[in-house]
Amino acid sequence: MPFLDPPTLLLANLLVGLTLVLVFMSTRVGLGSGARGMRSWLAGDVVLLTGQAVIAIDAVDFGRLLDIPPLTLSSGLVTAGIALHLVGIHRHARPAQKGAAPHAVALGLGVFVAAASVLMSEPAHRVMLLHVVLVAMLAATIARELVAVRRFFGVRILITAMGFAIVANVLLLLGAAARPEDVLKGAMPGLLINMVMTMVTTSAFVLWLQEELRETLRRAAHTDLLTGVLNRYGVLPQLRRELARSARHGTPLSVALCDIDHFKNINDTRGHAAGDGVLQAFSGALLRHARATDLVARWGGEEFLLVLPDTDAAHALAALQRMQGRMAQEAEAAGGVTFSAGIASTTDGAAADVDALLARADRRLYAAKATRNTVVAH
Ligand code: GH3
Ligand code: MG
Ligand code: MG
Repeated sequence: MPFLDPPTLLLANLLVGLTLVLVFMSTRVGLGSGARGMRSWLAGDVVLLTGQAVIAIDAVDFGRLLDIPPLTLSSGLVTAGIALHLVGIHRHARPAQKGAAPHAVALGLGVFVAAASVLMSEPAHRVMLLHVVLVAMLAATIARELVAVRRFFGVRILITAMGFAIVANVLLLLGAAARPEDVLKGAMPGLLINMVMTMVTTSAFVLWLQEELRETLRRAAHTDLLTGVLNRYGVLPQLRRELARSARHGTPLSVALCDIDHFKNINDTRGHAAGDGVLQAFSGALLRHARATDLVARWGGEEFLLVLPDTDAAHALAALQRMQGRMAQEAEAAGGVTFSAGIASTTDGAAADVDALLARADRRLYAAKATRNTVVAH
C-alpha cells in the first residue's frame, strides 16, 4: 500500500478522530440522561487515537527517536482505549453499578500490557500478548453485556463488528506466531482496520443509546405515571388493533368504563395523598382480576377503561360483577372503594367503532351512577 504512507495515515486518523469526538460530544447533549457510558467511551476514543498515532510513529521508527521500544506504549494505549470502550458498554448496560473501579481496571490493563511488553525482547511476543488480551476482553463483553440487549439494532452492529475484530486479532496472532520477523509490517493494515473499527463501533454505540432513549420515551408517553397502567394514548392504538382483529375474526369485544364511587370524599376527608394511594390500589386490583389478554388503562381522574377481547356483553357483565365482588372482599387491598361501570360490546347491534363504543359505555356508566356500585351493560 504505497499511497498509505504512515504520515498520511496518521493525519487522516487524527482528522477522523477529531470529527468523531465532536459528533460524539454534540450527540451526548441531545441524549441527556440516556447518555450513560458515553464519557467512558469518549475517553476510550481519545486514548485509542493516541495509541494509533503511536503505532504510526512506531512504523516510521520514530520510536528510536523517542527512545521507546516499538509496540510497547502503543499496545498499552490500544488496550486501555478499547477497555474504556468496553467500560462504556458495561456502564450503559448496568446503570445501577456506580464507582470508578471499571476505569481503574481498564487503565491498569493498559499499564500491564505496556509494562509486560517492555520486558519482552521479541516484538512478535508483544504483538501476541496484545491480541490475546483484546480477544479475551471483546469476547467477555459480548457474552456478559451485549447478548442480553441484542434486540437493539445498534447492539447487533456492535456484536458483529466486535466479532470481526476477534477474528482479525486471532488471524494477526497466528500470523505473528508463523512469521515473527514480519510483525512490524502488519502495523499499517492493522492501523487501518483499527480506524474503521473505531468509527463503526462508535456509531453503533450511539445508535444503541438513541434507540434505547426512544424506547424509554415511548413507554413513558404511553404509561400513567401514578398507577403504572396504560394511559389514554397507550390504550387507544391497542383498542383499535383489538377492534380490527375482532371484526376480522368475527369474535366479540367489550369495553368497560369504570368510575370509583364517591372518590372526592376520600380526597376531602383523608387528603390528596391518600386519594393517590387508593388509585394505585384500585388499578392494581383491576390488573389482578382482569385476564392476561385484557387491557387496563387510566382513562382520566378516577376513571379506568377495561378492554375485554373475545368477550360479549353478558360475559363482560359477569366479569365486572365478579371483580366488584372480589374487590369488596379484599377491602383495603383494593383501595376500600366501590365502583360503577358501563359496558359496551361489538354485539350490541349498534355501531362498533372506537368512538361509538366509548360513547355507549360512558352513557351506561352515567346510568350506573344512579345507584352506584352497579354495572350497566344495556
Ligand atoms: P361519583 O360517585 O359520582 O363518581 O363521585 P366522585 O366523588 O367519585 O366523582 P367526582 O367526579 O365528583 O370526583 C372525582 C375526584 O377525583 C375529583 C378529583 O379531584 C379527583 N381526582 C382526579 N384525579 C386525581 C388524582 O390523580 N389524585 C387524586 N388524589 N384525586 C384525583
Ligand atoms: Mg367517581
Ligand atoms: Mg369521575
